[in-house]
Amino acid sequence: MTKKIGIIGGSGIYSLTDGMDLEKIAIKTPYGDSVNVSLFKRNNKDIVFLPRHKIGHKTPPHKINYRANIFALKELGVNQIIATNSVGSLKKDIPPGSLVLPDDFIDFTCRRDKTFYDDEVVHVDLTQPYCERLRNTIAKNGKLINSGVYVCTEGPRFETRAEIKMFQSLGVDIVGMTGLPEVVLAKEKGMCYSSIAIVTNYSTSLSKDKLTMEEVFEMMEAKKKEVIEIILKTIDDVPIDYECDCLS
Ligand SMILES: [Zn+2]
Repeated sequence: MTKKIGIIGGSGIYSLTDGMDLEKIAIKTPYGDSVNVSLFKRNNKDIVFLPRHKIGHKTPPHKINYRANIFALKELGVNQIIATNSVGSLKKDIPPGSLVLPDDFIDFTCRRDKTFYDDEVVHVDLTQPYCERLRNTIAKNGKLINSGVYVCTEGPRFETRAEIKMFQSLGVDIVGMTGLPEVVLAKEKGMCYSSIAIVTNYSTSLSKDKLTMEEVFEMMEAKKKEVIEIILKTIDDVPIDYECDCLS
C-alpha cells in the first residue's frame, strides 16, 4: 500500500481543500465505529483527511472514538499524522492566537479507551511522545512555539480555577480536551504524530471574563487559514519514505 500522510482536523478545521473534488470513504474498524475520511493528492503525495469530531462537529471530546480513528488511518497506510487541537493558555506569554507544537503531555482524562493493547502486556515508551522530526518540520513552516507541555482534561466542561492553578504548578503550558489518547495510540501503532495546538483563549483565572465557546470558535475562524497553510507547506516538505524512531 502507498504510504500516506494523515491530517486530523480538530475544531474549526473541517477541510483542507475547500471546493476540491475528494474521494470520500468509510473505513470499518473493530472498535464499533466506521470512520469517514477524504482522500486527495498534493504534489503526488497521498493525503488522508479525518475530521476528529466527525462531519458537522457532532462528537464531543470525551465521546470521540480515538482508537477507531487511529486504526482507520493505519489501515489506509498512514505513517505520519499532523493533528490540530484547540487549547487554552496557562501562560501570560502564550496569548490567544499563538500556535504551539507540544513536545510533552500530562494526561488527566479518565474514561477513555487509551490503548490498543487490552489483551497483551505492552508498555509503549513515551520519552518523545510527539515526533521530533515532524514537529521540527512543521516549525519551519510558520510562526509557531516549538515546545510546550499539553495537559488533556476529560471535559466537556472547562476547568476550575483550582485545577488551572494545579496545572500551572505542574509546569503545564496549554490545556485541551482532545490530544489524549490520540498521541499515545499513534505511538502504539508505530506512527509519527505531531499536533498544532491553536490557542483560542486564556484559561480560567488568567482571563477575567467567563469562557465561552463563541470566543473559541471566533479565534479558530481567525487562525484557520494560517494553520491550513502551515499544514500544506509541511505536506510539501516531509518525505514519504524516511527513517524515524517512531516507526519501530
Ligand atoms: Zn517520527
